Amino acid sequence: MSEEIVHVWEEDPGAHPSHRMPVGRTARDHEQLPLPFKIVEREPATHHSQRYALRYWTASDSLARATDWMSKITLSKEFSWHPEMKGIMPVTLDAGIGLAGEYRRGDDHHGIFFFRTPSGHQTIYGCESPDIVCHEVGHAVLDGLKPEILETQRLEQHAFHEAFGDICSMLSSLTVESFCSAVIHETRGQINHSSRLSRMAEQLSTEMRRRLPGKTDVASVRELSNEFYYIDPLMVPVRAPASQICHERHSFSRVFSAAFLDTLAEMFYPPKKSAADLQEAARRLAQILCQAILATPNSNRYWADLAANMIVADARLFDGEHEAILREAFGGRGVLTFDDLASITEEVLKSDTNRPASENPGGSQIRASHIRLPGERYGIKSGFNVRVPNEAPSVVTPTANSNTPEETITAHAVCFVDSLFVHREITVPKGLRTRSCPVPSDHARRTTHEICETDSGSVELRTLACHR
Ligand SMILES: [Zn+2]
Repeated sequence: MSEEIVHVWEEDPGAHPSHRMPVGRTARDHEQLPLPFKIVEREPATHHSQRYALRYWTASDSLARATDWMSKITLSKEFSWHPEMKGIMPVTLDAGIGLAGEYRRGDDHHGIFFFRTPSGHQTIYGCESPDIVCHEVGHAVLDGLKPEILETQRLEQHAFHEAFGDICSMLSSLTVESFCSAVIHETRGQINHSSRLSRMAEQLSTEMRRRLPGKTDVASVRELSNEFYYIDPLMVPVRAPASQICHERHSFSRVFSAAFLDTLAEMFYPPKKSAADLQEAARRLAQILCQAILATPNSNRYWADLAANMIVADARLFDGEHEAILREAFGGRGVLTFDDLASITEEVLKSDTNRPASENPGGSQIRASHIRLPGERYGIKSGFNVRVPNEAPSVVTPTANSNTPEETITAHAVCFVDSLFVHREITVPKGLRTRSCPVPSDHARRTTHEICETDSGSVELRTLACHR
């Protein structure tokens, strides 16, 4: 590919009326990246419209940017796509009418898909927003690192997938020096204040808010500069307006991503003031998070153990330089309880037992097991299997309440399946449903989950995709 200069959106196009303008950038070859992509649509030619070229090159530039931050960190495991992608991630820029985009698994229909949304006299394309493009790549990256997270039917695991999408968006934006300078200027150096960094998908949020005013934050689809505090997923409502957290993955994810943003803000805190300082803080935090993801078992206390493993990773990578910041940020959001914080002692940080799973023979082989839920509750003809976490946490204690683990596991699974029905994110095929099934039989919506019959004849809940 020649050194062609193309026009792209450097950041989300912005809520209407927006004064943001596309910028010139050297075209990137997204098929030659260490994690390669293949855009299904044709590269713009002279007969294509300027708008077509803008969205194609914005998507191409954002896809490349979404892997740039990974090239700056080293891990104990090679990054690769999930095996179902067969080495190259297919990307469809215009997959029809819908909201934003999705990452989808499945032999026949896999990859990243973006949608278009009619909005008054114009059309909003998901692939025109670097926020949305990088968020979907985040799903794909995490699925390559830890596929069991997407397969486990529990709120914390799915909400972390969403948080990681937004974190990938932030880290991708921060690889662009001019973006860093703009954020520092906009927030006066307080990076966790509301800014173009913390507000996800501002353009799309206008249309979403027009349609469903309670569904998104005020100036973005998700505002990561927020005051949310962790609540036991069994105690949050199944559905709530965006001003509260509920048992829905995007809603709940805002707690973890806010703790991440708080950490970044403190790691950058003045007197560090330059864009290069901010980029170095982002690089270090990305390294800490990704090492912790590899080291954290798929447990019933996934978030707390992941945060604790971030403190452990910092001790190993940076000699504990950011320990107090991590403790304050994740303790301040309730992801780590005071008891958890007290249990992360000097001995724990120095011990060698919670090594990354890839360095721990057999550790990465332990997969989530299943429990069986009765079908009648959901109008399903038979009981069905639900994959649940079955590894022990590596740093924090296994339970945060007095219930026996079996009761807790079942209660979380029921609550998660309830939320899929309430948020209309599940499909039940005709042959498996009874009259009392609470979702329509001609369910044409692209859902994230389905009840399906496996080749061996058992019925199970399966994850198909991550939306938005
Ligand atoms: Zn998502």
